[in-house]
Amino acid sequence: MSALPIITVKDLVKSYGNFKAVKGISFEVKEGEIFGLLGPNGAGKSTTLEIIETLREKTSGTVMVNGFDLDKSPESIKKMIGVQLQTAGFYPNLNLTELIHLFVGLYQNEMDATALLQKVNLEDKAKAKFKELSGGQKQRFSIATTLINKPKIIFLDEPTTGLDPQARRNLWDLIKEIRDNGTTVIITTHYMDEAEVLCDRVAIIDSGKIIAINTPNHLIDELVETGFEKVKEVKKANLEDVFIHLTGKALREE
Ligand code: ADP
Ligand code: MG
Repeated sequence: MSALPIITVKDLVKSYGNFKAVKGISFEVKEGEIFGLLGPNGAGKSTTLEIIETLREKTSGTVMVNGFDLDKSPESIKKMIGVQLQTAGFYPNLNLTELIHLFVGLYQNEMDATALLQKVNLEDKAKAKFKELSGGQKQRFSIATTLINKPKIIFLDEPTTGLDPQARRNLWDLIKEIRDNGTTVIITTHYMDEAEVLCDRVAIIDSGKIIAINTPNHLIDELVETGFEKVKEVKKANLEDVFIHLTGKALREE
């Protein structure tokens, strides 16, 4: 993996009126990694992402994306990123092929709808309406739409919230595949097991401040070195392992 930063955030502050939602955070995202932004509700994750995505004004600080300064070249940044819309933003009565054509038109881009649907394993659903998809399929489709402009970086804000374990795993594979094909991924999640298997590095943000940033492994080792021990003896499997063992990894509602 390249160690070069593709995103550099310095002293980023965002105030909503008197309330400081982001209190001067600095971090880098390296090219080609899956970078996780973790934190409780209200920590400032979405605010931070939306500022980098050019969708929200910052109060102060600097943001560089692939060599472009957010203050000077927001249009250049927009062109090289893919942002996952909330799934509610899709026209429910258009089928997937029609929706892709709509997006391709917006981006004035060339993209083969069938190839794109294949990439996210939805080629069988090309003629299905968006509203007819399962939760996992909706998420896969919305991730597909982030790839339309062949972005260097994609932003996924809680893409697995509400999915069943099979659909969640399936999405992990898709996100890793996107990373392996050279796209940098920034993701937020509330699932620490997910962050542990998926993210190359994570930042933990709480009340608008970054309180830790490193690889999941390093953060775990650091905690263990302080003498931390789990009260309960760790079993070799957990209930999710039982669930997947019994119900299999195959996707449902397909
Ligand atoms: P997260 O994504 O980590 O849950 P957000 O970035 O959405 O957190 O929100 C951070 C804080 O900023 C929260 O306290 C939230 O209520 C507040 N906030 C977010 N958007 C607005 C807004 N448009 N106006 C006022 N406060 C907001
Ligand atoms: Mg959020």
